[in-house]
Amino acid sequence: MDEAAEWLRQARRVVVFTGAGVSAESGIPTFREAQTGLWARYDAQQLATPEAFAADPDLVWGWYEWRRAAVVRASPNAAHVAVADIERHKAGTTVVTQNVDDLHERAGSREPVHLHGSLFAPRCAGCHAAFAPPGELPTEAAPRCELCASPVRPGVVWFGEALPAEALERAVQVAYECDVLLTIGTSGLVYPAAEIPLVAKRSGGKVIQINPAATPLDEESDVNLRGKAAEVLPALVERAFS
Ligand code: NAD
Ligand code: ZN
Repeated sequence: MDEAAEWLRQARRVVVFTGAGVSAESGIPTFREAQTGLWARYDAQQLATPEAFAADPDLVWGWYEWRRAAVVRASPNAAHVAVADIERHKAGTTVVTQNVDDLHERAGSREPVHLHGSLFAPRCAGCHAAFAPPGELPTEAAPRCELCASPVRPGVVWFGEALPAEALERAVQVAYECDVLLTIGTSGLVYPAAEIPLVAKRSGGKVIQINPAATPLDEESDVNLRGKAAEVLPALVERAFS
């Protein structure tokens, strides 16, 4: 912890790379946790595909609306707040997230890079026109595009789809340039996002991992801080900047 805090204190350029574990303590389930309630019989990895949406747009739309409603009800936790604190202390900080929620923004992060899109940016599946997100209450059927009548899809990246090029380029660039990359609450299994910490490592940056469990990134990390993001990250930030 002391060594990690010292690296963070001295860094000029910092990347905070986050996954579903950062939002776990806000009550947003990670992908690999068992689905609950209404959705218990569906496998998340089978709903999050272009094929699933083509076969049944309303089913997939409804699942994302259920997830979006859970995010609307949730609040940022101490980990999201600590990430925004790092940005305040270090102007050269960029947040790169795999999360499709808006909890970083709501904790005060400036323009996090969303590698996997957002639950709040639906668009037409046919002509790609942006669609105003529905209100707070979930809508059960996929809306239709006013321009071409195709179903509207969630603005997230599905398995088998390319990441938004601009977001990926920016993430690789800041990882390449950083002195320290914090990888927090990500299993490091979903590529190409999982390359981001490796880019930092190969270009001489220090990699600090925060996760209660072992991940494939353990070996690549200079320090592994085992524990929950909402406990470990505020402690690290406190030590680095007080
Ligand atoms: P993942 O589900 O594969 O891995 C989650 C990781 O978080 C695990 O390594 C786990 O050990 C760790 N973790 C669990 N609780 C934690 C805590 N309290 N503090 C710190 N770490 C904790 O998630 P991933 O790596 O982000 O990749 C899966 C994909 O699922 C992502 O691409 C993302 O788009 C999507 N997803 C997003 C959300 C969201 O936006 N909140 C939720 C579920 C899934
Ligand atoms: Zn359209």
